[in-house]
Order: sequence, then C-alpha cells, then structure tokens
Amino acid sequence: MAKLEKSDAEWKKDLTPEQFRILREKGTERPFTGEYNAFKGEGVFKCAGCGEPLFASATKYDSGSGWPSFFQPLSDTAIAEHTDQSHGMTRTEVTCAKCGGHLGHLFPDGPRPTGQRYCINSASLNFDGLKK
Ligand code: FE
Repeated sequence: MAKLEKSDAEWKKDLTPEQFRILREKGTERPFTGEYNAFKGEGVFKCAGCGEPLFASATKYDSGSGWPSFFQPLSDTAIAEHTDQSHGMTRTEVTCAKCGGHLGHLFPDGPRPTGQRYCINSASLNFDGLKK
C-alpha cells in the first residue's frame, strides 16, 4: 500500500486536537465517550487521518469495553499490527497501514468467527453510511 506521510505541522492543521492526540500521539479516548461506541449505522468506517476504509459495520459488535469494537478488519492490508509495551503491559497496537495513524489495540477475546477484538478509538474513525 502506498504510504501517506505528513509532518506533525501538517497533521495538526488537518486534524482536530483530539484526533491528533489519538492518531499521531497514540492517545486513548475515555471509554463510553466516543461517538461510535454505541453507534449502529450501516456502512464503512474509514481512517480519520487518510480516509482509507478500515472496518465494515457488519463486523462491529458490542464488547462492553466502551470503545467501538470489531471482530475483523475490512482487508488484510488495511491495518498494521505492532507490539506495544507501554504502561507496563504487552499489547498489540493497531495502526492504519496507509498513514500510520494509531487506531487502538487488538485483543484475542473477540467473538466468532475470528476470536479477535479490534478495540478502536472513535476519534480515529469517520463513518461513511450506505446510501439507501
Ligand atoms: Fe490512515
């Protein structure tokens, strides 16, 4: 995938302060506060940094965690995984493969059929609804 690279100054211009803190500084929104946590619209969730399609609404489920949760990404190449040893834990960080934006973390406690939980910040996503 062709990578999108921008300077911090450019990202700051293009993102809200909350999006910048989460996408570019690996921040986390407070649970149960994000606009897509309890959201049930049908469509595609795209990267708020670069617009790359990342998750389909059909793979979103209520994990009870307080963050939007998906059991599968839209494609094998849209999302990159990284080992994250911050905060005294070993976790798997997930980022947008195109722009490198921090999305959230991946946990092995999701539902069938994948058993995966992509725990994603709402601020890292923009929703594109199906036209009816
Ligand atoms: Fe992106």
